[in-house]
Amino acid sequence: MRTITHWINGTAVDGTGAVEVENPATDSAVATAPMADAATIDTAVSSGLKAFEGWSQTPQSRRVHVLFKARDLLLEHRDELAALISEEHGKTLDDAAGEVTRAVDSIELACGGPAQLRGATSLQTGPSIDTKSVLHPLGVCVGITPFNFPAMMGLMMMSVALAAGNTFVWKPSEQDPGVCVRIAELFSQAGLPDGVLNVVHGGVEASQRLIDSPDTEAVSFVGSSDVAQVIYERAAAAGKRVQAFGGAKNHLVVMPDADLEVTADQLTAAAFGAAGQRCMAISVAVVVGPTAEPLLERLAERARNVVVGAGSETGVEVGPVVSRRSQQRVQQVVRDAVAAGARAVVDRSAETVPGYESGYFVGPTLLTDVDVTSPVYTQELFAPVLVVLRVDTLDEALELIRSHRYGNGASIFTQNGAAANEFERRVTAGMVGVNVAIPVPVAAYAVQGWKASAFGDTGLNNASWSFYTRPKYVTSRWESVRGQDFGFNPN
Ligand code: NAD
Repeated sequence: MRTITHWINGTAVDGTGAVEVENPATDSAVATAPMADAATIDTAVSSGLKAFEGWSQTPQSRRVHVLFKARDLLLEHRDELAALISEEHGKTLDDAAGEVTRAVDSIELACGGPAQLRGATSLQTGPSIDTKSVLHPLGVCVGITPFNFPAMMGLMMMSVALAAGNTFVWKPSEQDPGVCVRIAELFSQAGLPDGVLNVVHGGVEASQRLIDSPDTEAVSFVGSSDVAQVIYERAAAAGKRVQAFGGAKNHLVVMPDADLEVTADQLTAAAFGAAGQRCMAISVAVVVGPTAEPLLERLAERARNVVVGAGSETGVEVGPVVSRRSQQRVQQVVRDAVAAGARAVVDRSAETVPGYESGYFVGPTLLTDVDVTSPVYTQELFAPVLVVLRVDTLDEALELIRSHRYGNGASIFTQNGAAANEFERRVTAGMVGVNVAIPVPVAAYAVQGWKASAFGDTGLNNASWSFYTRPKYVTSRWESVRGQDFGFNPN
């Protein structure tokens, strides 16, 4: 069994209060991770604070050299990182390798930091007066991340934060923290000075201590919406900058002219891939017009054929969900929905996998005739369960999306440009797909939801340069001007 440590000031640090990290495919412990006490959190923050002096004064180009090197090391170690992710999270090795690649996308974006960190200068804003703006790093920034992308979410935060000259304390999910420490080691190997990136493990109390610390300046959070809101309020009350990204219930609208084979292929992968545990997974298909039954037939055929199993096994398409608790919760919601009148077109929710009978598997499940007030529709299940709803018009589809609590992603499948255009304009979600089921924008854009999917107003990746810097405006004159002006006149 592996022993996961904290990573503080460039060193692996043991701790107390260890919790077991389980392999969701086998229900067996694969590692232990310490739970940071208050003193450990404080040590990580003070090492970030101390390192800030040097890192913030390090020339931008040298900071970027470290990021370049870290990018190369992550790619060199992609298989090793993917294996760690897969073992603790359960996702397939392919999917985990894809996560590492998407995480590297964020580092590559941050390598262009110098172009983003330019201020502006205006000459002669008054008699012999110039005015300029400059961007300062903030100090110690905190990242609190979810289990479902254990590598990518932290890197989506820290890449820009570090390029801008901040230091970082990362508190990953206690469910799959192993890869985060390995990433910190690789950054250290790339030449990141000690204390610039620290990783501490823990749950609620660790998060709270980081938020409340007088020495942390900004909090980035990704996780479920109820927690996002609590974090947003707590950090704001403490006077911190905060961006908190929450849960989702992403709808995909199928117009009558959509190619049903293509739509069924894309929907199957988007709904069931990663066991539905992507914040951009599709969990609701809204079929406009008469094609619901033929689409359901095609989806059912595909859902029955999805290969469910341990993420480490070749040929497996869908791994387990992350925990027994999650498995049991989802199975109960599906049972309740069916008892309340939903039609289970395919129900593999209670399936077991030969050789992995204790694993936390939930197989692809396809429900229709669902009441839109029932939990299977209103709640984020974070599992491979797809609800298919029928409506008569695009207006009705847009209204369903508008009325839902979440607004992370939404997609439309159509061959009609006017319908696609109307959807783009009117849909109430932050990330929109047109004939793309999982429209996660590349790092040059941003990850950001609407409504309860995001609290705060800056997205991750390229939208976070302003979050991780604070501007200063300097007005200067180098000519001696005599005379006293009591009038507060223009410069
Ligand atoms: P979670 O909210 O349970 O936990 C997220 C993090 O917060 C973990 O590090 C956890 O230790 C910590 N935490 C939990 N409760 C806390 C509390 N009361 N106070 C302070 N910290 C607390 O989320 P999860 O189950 O790990 O991740 C899945 C969720 O993340 C889903 O809702 C998913 O949609 C969401 N997610 C959103 C995005 C996005 O971009 N919007 C991306 C990935 C995941």
